[in-house]
Parts: sequence; structure tokens; C-alpha cells
Amino acid sequence: MNSLSADDRAQVLQDATTQFWKHIVPIVWIAFAIHILLFGLFLFLHVPVLLAANALSILVYVVCLRAIASGRLQTAGMLLSLEILGHAIVATWMVGWDSNFYFYLFFLVPIIAFSFQNAPLRRRGLSLAIMVVAVGGYALRRETGVATAIGDGLTEAFGIGNALTAVALLLHATYLSVRFTLSMQLQLFHTAHRDSLTSLYTRRRVLQRLRQIGTERQAAATAIVLLDVDHFKQINDRHGHDFGDLVLQRVADSIAACVRGTDIAARWGGEEFLVLMPSTTVLEARQVADRVLAHIREHAGQVEGAGLTVTATLAVAALQPGEAFRDALIRADQLLYQGKEAGRDRVMPTNA
Ligand code: GH3
Ligand code: MG
Ligand code: MG
Repeated sequence: MNSLSADDRAQVLQDATTQFWKHIVPIVWIAFAIHILLFGLFLFLHVPVLLAANALSILVYVVCLRAIASGRLQTAGMLLSLEILGHAIVATWMVGWDSNFYFYLFFLVPIIAFSFQNAPLRRRGLSLAIMVVAVGGYALRRETGVATAIGDGLTEAFGIGNALTAVALLLHATYLSVRFTLSMQLQLFHTAHRDSLTSLYTRRRVLQRLRQIGTERQAAATAIVLLDVDHFKQINDRHGHDFGDLVLQRVADSIAACVRGTDIAARWGGEEFLVLMPSTTVLEARQVADRVLAHIREHAGQVEGAGLTVTATLAVAALQPGEAFRDALIRADQLLYQGKEAGRDRVMPTNA
């Protein structure tokens, strides 16, 4: 985290906040709908102060939803915060502490935490406001609810309705936060472990998987297949770099089509690929390598009607029990080099 520049950090925060709000939007719509219902209710009950408060709230929600749509998320967060705080104060004052309108304050907590990650003053100010309203409301609870003629029965109904709605919203918002965190983690995993051009795994994932299977490797055979596209520089030179990229994607597709779900097919770098095959003998790996080469010959050059024949040189090596991955990789690399020397377009060793 510390190695990120200030710009990168700001970008990450902005992306995270944007993603969070995408999850929260349905809740803002629910809150908007609740205020329309309350508006109708206070119209029916003839409580002009709360009617006016709800009309104002509805207006705030309209502006808030427009702010979300146009990406002004800090404005949206501030509007939502002020609306919930203001509404809690006015409604508690008018209907009484027992009406539980202050319950909605707690639903505000995750919204403040996410919206103002990069604005500590506003975050602390709003957090303090929540505490002051909650504690102050409790301290003054006997003074509240005396200004209106709303009876005990109705206050009780509000108390139950508000507790139910606010707790349901908080539960839902918490669930959304958890789902959001998971989706960010999955996205992060994908970015870190998948190559952006080919969608195959990265070198990082191969090394991670090797650490995971470290102990199993002693008991079961593990094989690697190293693959290098033949004369790829020529392909780039003759058809252009973008065409070369498409060929690399086709090669990756061929590899992915021939390996099993338990294998880790990775782009090792440039036009070089590596497949890590846990619980696989060198003979089985050899069969997969043959299939991959046949698939590449047939499909990898079929880009933009070019009808090119693309070939590759592959090397198969077994990871001996206790052997370092690096040593097996060196052996595979040497085999690959021999394969290139011998004329390319083959799986090494040819006699396995
Ligand atoms: P050999 O058969 O001996 O492997 O020859 P080669 O031309 O494939 O090997 P060389 O290492 O000389 O060239 C590899 C080329 O791959 C050079 C580099 O520009 C190109 N390359 C590496 N990464 C990419 C990429 O992401 N996209 C494209 N289009 N080309 C790439
Ligand atoms: Mg190469
Ligand atoms: Mg090459």
C-alpha cells in the first residue's frame, strides 16, 4: 500500500467509493420510498411540521439520487447524512424518543465510513454528530414528543415500524458491505493472478500454487510444460504488433482448451507460456503437450483471415521429489533451447 503514489491512492479510493455506492443505490431508493409513505401518513395525520420535514427529505433524496447518477458521491454521502441526522432530530423531537426515529442513525455509520475515507474531517464531524444526536436524544427523551398530539398507540406503532425498518436496512447494508468487500477481493485476485492480454494465470499464481502444493508434491508426481511460440518476432514484424497480440490470445486459448481444471496454465512472459500440472506423470504431461501443439498448429494462425500456420516448441519436465522448481525450470528451458536448435515445432524431449 505504501508504495502507491498519492495519485494512485486517490484513484483506488475513488474506485472503491464508486463500487460501494453502486451497492448502496437500492437502499437509497428504499429510503426515498419510505419518505413518500411517511409524507402520505403525516398528511393523513395532519402533522404539518413532519409533513414539511418529509417534503424536504424527498427533495434531498431526489438531489442525492441525481448526485449518485452523476458520480458526485461525496455530495451524495453528505446529503444522505444530513437528511438522516436532521430527520432523526425533528421526528424524535416531534413524536418522542420511543418512536425510534433515531435508529436510522446507525444505518448511516457504514455510509459515512465508506464515503469519507479520504475526508477525515467530515467523517469525524458526522460520526460525532451521530453520537451527539443519539446520546443527546436519550438525555432529553422526557422533553421529546410533547409538541404533537400523536398518541401513545401511534408512537408505539412508529417505534416498532422504525426499529424493524432501520434494523432491516442496517442488516442489509452490512450484508452489502461484506459482499462488496468480497467482490473487491475477487477483482484484486483476478488482476493479480490473471494476465490481462490472455486471461491465463500469471507467474505469481504459479509460484503461489507451487507453495500450496509444496507438501503434496513429495507424494505425487508434478510436471511442467514450457512453451515458446516459434519465430514470433517475424509474425510481429510482418503483420504488426496488434496481430501478434491476437495470435498470443489464440495460443493461450489453445493451451486453455487442452489442459485440465487442476492445471495452472500461465503466461510466463512475452510469447512464453508455462503449465504447472499437479499429480501428473511426465508421460501424461507429454500427451497434453502434443495436444496443445496440434491445437496451436490448427487454430492459432486463424486470425483475421490470415490463414497463417503458427507453431511452437514445447518442453516437458517432471519436478523430482525435493527438487526446487527453479532447477526443473532450468532443465525445461535447456530442452526448449535444444528443440529450437533442432528445428522448432516439436515437443521435447522427442523420445519421452
Ligand atoms: P524463436 O522461435 O527462437 O522463439 O524466435 P522468436 O522470434 O519467437 O523469439 P524472440 O525472443 O526473438 O522474439 C520474441 C518476440 O515476442 C519479441 C517481442 O517483441 C515479442 N513479444 C513479447 N511480448 C509480446 C506481446 O505481448 N505482444 C506482441 N505482439 N509481441 C510480443
Ligand atoms: Mg521467447
Ligand atoms: Mg519464440
